[in-house]
Amino acid sequence: MALKIDGRAVINGKRVNSVDGATFECFSPIDNRKLCDVASGKSADIDLAVSAARAAFNARTWAGKSPKERKQTMIKFADLILQNREELALLETLDMGKPITASLNVDVNSAANSLRWFGEAIDKVYDEIAPTPEHTLAMITREPIGVVGAIVPWNYPMLMACWKIAPALASGNSIVLKPSEKSPLSALKIADIALEAGIPAGVLNVVPGYGAEAGSPLALHTDVDCIAFTGSTAVGKKIQIMAGQSNLKRAWCELGGKSPNIVFADCKDLNRAAEAGAGSIFYNQGESCNAPSRLLVERSIKDEFIKKLLAELPNYKPGNPLDASTTMGAMVDCGQMENVLKYIASGKAQGAKLLSGGDQTRTETGGFYINPTVFDNVTNDMTIATEEIFGPVLSIITFDTMEEAIKIANDTPYGLAAAVWTQDISKAHMVAKRLRAGTVHVNSYDEDDITVPFGGYKQSGNGRDKSLHALEKYTELKTTWIRLS
Ligand code: NAD
Repeated sequence: MALKIDGRAVINGKRVNSVDGATFECFSPIDNRKLCDVASGKSADIDLAVSAARAAFNARTWAGKSPKERKQTMIKFADLILQNREELALLETLDMGKPITASLNVDVNSAANSLRWFGEAIDKVYDEIAPTPEHTLAMITREPIGVVGAIVPWNYPMLMACWKIAPALASGNSIVLKPSEKSPLSALKIADIALEAGIPAGVLNVVPGYGAEAGSPLALHTDVDCIAFTGSTAVGKKIQIMAGQSNLKRAWCELGGKSPNIVFADCKDLNRAAEAGAGSIFYNQGESCNAPSRLLVERSIKDEFIKKLLAELPNYKPGNPLDASTTMGAMVDCGQMENVLKYIASGKAQGAKLLSGGDQTRTETGGFYINPTVFDNVTNDMTIATEEIFGPVLSIITFDTMEEAIKIANDTPYGLAAAVWTQDISKAHMVAKRLRAGTVHVNSYDEDDITVPFGGYKQSGNGRDKSLHALEKYTELKTTWIRLS
C-alpha cells in the first residue's frame, strides 16, 4: 500500500488547511526529495485551535470523564499507535532521517508506552487531606490546568510530542500541539489516531508551522494556561519572556545540553564504557539533547581508551535510513548539517586534533550525512566544548584528578545529564552528588525508563517530562476548606 501523507492541520477533530491557505514544502533529508506540502499555521490558525481546545475543556467532554474512562481511552490510543507502527515509523524516518529500525523499535514503542503508562497511572493517583484542626477539613486536590500549548523539536518528533501529550491528556487537559516545521508529519498522524481512539474533537489539536509564525502566537496566547516547550535554550528563553508578557502562563522548558561523560582510570570495564560513550553520542546522528558530547578521560588511560572508542566507529557508518541495517542516518536538513560542519571547522581552527570523521558523506544521494567525528586535545573553553552542536561530534578532554573532572564537568551553562565510570563506590556517589545535572548515570549512559523524570538543571530548563512528576506541570493544586462545626 502506498504511503499517503496528509500535511493539513488537525483542529477541532477535522483535517483543515491553514486559514490563509499557506503551506510550506516538506523534504526528506534522506535524499532531499519532496514529501508533501504542509499547512503553514499562523495566529489565525492558533486562535482557532485554542478556541476549540477551550470549548472542549469547558464542555468537559474529556476533563469530565472519570480517570478510569480516560485510562481506557488512552490505552486504546496506545494500542492504535502500535497498530499503525509501520506507517508512523516510515513517516518519522522519511521526515527527519533517523534509521528505520530506531523509528520502529524505539520511537513508536516509546511513544505508545508513554500514553499507556500515564493512562494506566491516572486512576491510581490519590489526592490529599491536610492535617488541619479538628473542626475543619482541608482537601488538597489536583485539577487539570486547562488548555496546554505544547511546542516540540524535530529530533524525536513523535516521542517528544507524546511525553507532553500523555501526562497532559491523562490529567484531563485540552492541547494545542505545534510540531517542528522540520518534522511535522508524525504528530499530524497521531492526532488522527487520537480521534479514532475516542479522544473527543478539540481535545488534541495539531497546528504545524514555523516557530515565529505559529509557535510565538501559541506562547503569547492569553487563553493558554501552560506552555510545555522542548527545544533550544535560546528559544526557551523567548518562551519564558512570552509567557510573562502575556498572561503569566506556566512555562515549562526542556532545553539543550552539553553533557559530560567522565571515565576514571579505575573503571572496571573500559570496553563497555567505550561502547556506551560512542553509542550515546552517535545514536540519532548525535541529535539528542542528553548526548554525552564531552568525554572526560583520566590521563593515565587515555590512549588505551581512545583506541577502544575508535574501534566502535565502524558501527556508526552513515547509511540509507530506510535500510534495516543502518545505524546512523541523515542529519535533519541541510541547515543542520552545515551548522555541524561549521562547528567541526571551528574545532580544527581552535587547535583540537581530529581523530576521525569531520566530513560530509553520501553526497551522491542528495541527502545530508556526516561521518562520526572525534576530536582529541579539546579544552573546555573551545567552542566545540561549550556550545551544543547537536550532531555526531565528540570532544575528548583529559583530566588528572577527581576535583578537576568535577570542575570541568560542571563548567557549562547546561545541566541535563552526566555520567561517571569508576569501580570505587564512594567516588561514584561523591561525584554523582556533585554533578549539577538532572540525570547522572553511574557505569552506564544508556539507561532509560518512563518511570523516571527527565529534565535539566541550569539552562537545560525547568520542569520534568516522564514519571508521575510530569503530572505536576499539567495540574493546578487546589485547597478546599470545609468548616465542620
Ligand atoms: P528550536 O528551539 O529551534 O525549536 C523547537 C521548537 O520551537 C520548534 O517547534 C520551533 O518551530 C519552535 N520555535 C522556534 N522559534 C520559536 C519562537 N520564536 N517562538 C515559539 N516557538 C518557536 O529547537 P530544535 O532545533 O527544534 O531542537 C533542538 C533543541 O532541542 C536542542 O537544543 C536540544 O537539546 C533540545 N531538546 C531538548 C530536550 C530535553 O528534553 N531537554 C529533548 C529534545 C531536544
